[in-house]
Amino acid sequence: MLETLDSKALAGHDGYQDHEQVVALRDRKSGLHGFIAIHDTTLGPALGGCRMWNYADEAAALTDVLRLSAGMTAKNALANLDFGGGKAVIIGDSHKDKSPELFRALGRAIEELGGRYTTGEDVGVTTTDMDFAAEMTSHVRGISAAGIGDPSPYTALGVFHGILAAISDRFGATGLTGLTVSLQGLGSVGFRLAERMHRAGARLIVSDIDRAAVSRAVEAFGAVPVDPDKSHSATADIFAPCALGGGLNPETIPEIKATIVTGAANNQLASAADAGRLHARRILYAPDYAINAGGVIAIALGLPGVSKRPIVEKVEAIGATLATIFARAKAENRTTARIADQLVEERLLAARARSAA
Ligand code: NAD
Repeated sequence: MLETLDSKALAGHDGYQDHEQVVALRDRKSGLHGFIAIHDTTLGPALGGCRMWNYADEAAALTDVLRLSAGMTAKNALANLDFGGGKAVIIGDSHKDKSPELFRALGRAIEELGGRYTTGEDVGVTTTDMDFAAEMTSHVRGISAAGIGDPSPYTALGVFHGILAAISDRFGATGLTGLTVSLQGLGSVGFRLAERMHRAGARLIVSDIDRAAVSRAVEAFGAVPVDPDKSHSATADIFAPCALGGGLNPETIPEIKATIVTGAANNQLASAADAGRLHARRILYAPDYAINAGGVIAIALGLPGVSKRPIVEKVEAIGATLATIFARAKAENRTTARIADQLVEERLLAARARSAA
């Protein structure tokens, strides 16, 4: 079922050279069709969720799995997990094309990789799906027996601690009392983050394309609603993007009034150059893969029977990691994104040196 792709098959896909292994998944009987990308296993087996998405074609799925798996190396390294980076994508409609057999086939494919890749949930994939994969392999996290369930509360907790670190760095303050936060996206993570910030004394400005979610936040937290396309330019101390990626770009960055940008959304910067644009405007930006690692920490450590306390402690430590990033960025006059990348590289180099010794 597994076919390792060679450089000819991968030519034209950005960054494929950095990957240790990329395999195509094909199982005619179950309909499984997709890819697993193992980016880097220096720190341990590659860990990253499985995404099921109606990709336009194989090339789009391959581009996505390569980008996502490289991102997982960085996220796992910064979260101080003993896992490398990898990802799986299944091409298909998660509402129509799922079956237990499909995920059992995924489990068999993962088993064939002999422990080099460990999977979990991502967009379009649930705990129940992972339970079927776990019938065929032990290299699965986030199964229902682990008791972790939805990782979003852990992601929200990590983002909250990242926000506290940013406030301390920028304002020398220890809490949110009196500060205004413009929060974009009131989904699984955003709503829980809003709840935490409200309890901590923040004034909230909220936006979502889902009007019912906005009404709930107005009702529950006394939040002030704004149009989704005005969220970034609202008069606030902090802008928290918790919806989709790409929201920080040459059009939006000049309009941001907040001096801190800290949110859960993945791939917030439309391009790497946008980190420089934020830096030039003296806006403190928390790199997304540093601040939103709470979910992967819960999935990595949340094995059946494990206590939640060490998981929570590791998620809260995201605040300390961000404090280090902010301090170094200031001392070296570099972007926080550059410093986060450097920290990842330093952790990988130290691990390589240890294993070479
Ligand atoms: P979700 O789908 O539950 O919520 C997203 C919310 O954003 C929805 O309410 C949606 O209506 C809203 N939205 C979409 N477009 C919008 C727009 N233009 N303006 C305002 N709101 C808009 O997703 P989630 O699980 O809460 O994740 C939010 C973000 O955090 C995503 O980027 C996700 O990749 C990232 N993330 C989530 C986790 C996790 O544990 N769930 C972990 C890491 C990163």
